[in-house]
Amino acid sequence: MAKTTQGTPEELALMTPTGSQGVPLDLSLVFETGPEPMPNCAECAMHRVERERAKACGDGSKRSDINVRLRRHLADKHAAELEAEHAAEHA
Ligand SMILES: [Zn+2]
Repeated sequence: MAKTTQGTPEELALMTPTGSQGVPLDLSLVFETGPEPMPNCAECAMHRVERERAKACGDGSKRSDINVRLRRHLADKHAAELEAEHAAEHA
């Protein structure tokens, strides 16, 4: 997995999953499901298709790589939408 030293707080939050007590979640579980692609976005759809293909091939490292790219894309392009969604969940 490529490491990055830069990123917005939202991106860093997305890239460092932690439990409610600040305990890191089981990474295999995170990579099993991965981030949720946004609907009505061609790039998200592309990542989803690639991930499904890697999953079908049993290519775990590629799937992890796609999840990293998708997570980065979500933070880059959908931060506002995700924040609105998050706010709605806790309204
Ligand atoms: Zn997208």
